[in-house]
Amino acid sequence: MILLRSTLFAVVCLLAVSPSDLAFNLSRFEFVEVHMGTQFKIVLYAKDEPLAGRAAQAAFQRIARLDAIMSDYNQASELNRLCHSPPGKPVRISRDLFRILTISQRLAAKTDGAFDVTVGAVVRLWRRARRTGELPDADKIKQALAVTGYTLLHLDAKTQSAWLEREGVLLDLGGIAKGYAADAAMQVLQQYGVQSALIAAGGDIVVSHAPPHQRGWIIEIAPLKQAEQSENTIVITDAAISTSGDTEQSVEINGIRYSHIVDPRTGIGLIEQIAVTVITRKGVDADALATAVSVLGMERGLKLIEATEKTAALIVKKTGRGVELFASKRWQSVQKK
Ligand code: ADP
Ligand code: MG
Repeated sequence: MILLRSTLFAVVCLLAVSPSDLAFNLSRFEFVEVHMGTQFKIVLYAKDEPLAGRAAQAAFQRIARLDAIMSDYNQASELNRLCHSPPGKPVRISRDLFRILTISQRLAAKTDGAFDVTVGAVVRLWRRARRTGELPDADKIKQALAVTGYTLLHLDAKTQSAWLEREGVLLDLGGIAKGYAADAAMQVLQQYGVQSALIAAGGDIVVSHAPPHQRGWIIEIAPLKQAEQSENTIVITDAAISTSGDTEQSVEINGIRYSHIVDPRTGIGLIEQIAVTVITRKGVDADALATAVSVLGMERGLKLIEATEKTAALIVKKTGRGVELFASKRWQSVQKK
């Protein structure tokens, strides 16, 4: 069993699959590299090692290129160049950046700004709080909120350009970029003829066809383990699964735990202890939805999931009374092991 994330809640593990399959002449290969501040793991089935290595190498290169575009840490990233260009002036951007911003803006509108990639200024305050152990000043939060709001970001599909309405807006793709990168890497593997693979970036996992002779990829949902549920292992093919609610990245100040996911309306890190697992077709959607549902909370979050096609979610909530589970209707039809 491979532990992807050792946190209180948001742990998604995957069980080892059969080591090789001679009947199909395919063997299992595993590769790991660090990108986007996270370990990306690729498990794939291929005829031989040279082919597997070439495919994985190309997939990692694609992820690295996306990181160079989407990173908010790297001042030279295309994302940061957009943030620092004069307000109101359209900037032509790459196809990848345009696509991820378009998907982000759609979800922002759908969630009334609960998911919002213009939240960068607020996120930075909480990153600092994590380092110093001190709460951000109220006026700093106010300033950050003045440059937060998805309506401050404009996109024009005709010219593939973007612009920000105000100076100081900071974009942050931390809630969606890993899912996007996993999808893109899976496409590269497919171009190399790899039909059966798993790509895991922390709590964001994308899988293609089932490993030879198996029903699918076996994924363990550890928040369910916490809840001592027997049915904590699922089987998926051609799908994506993401878990949000990483308590490792939270900070505890005066006995209150603040998440690295923030509410863009209040500028405060989430304090409700919930782990959200979303299953859908694409990694980009699973990643963003898991973050969005974390902000929306149980009731509004489940409503969003029910209204989203081919999507299921499970929320594990820690309360004074223990651990409570809430599943969307489609969760019942997810294949259990
Ligand atoms: P993880 O990075 O642990 O997988 P998520 O996918 O939930 O977790 O993303 C959390 C990250 O998303 C934060 O570190 C931050 O960069 C960004 N973020 C925080 N709050 C929001 C929000 N309300 N909307 C969009 N992105 C957010
Ligand atoms: Mg996310």
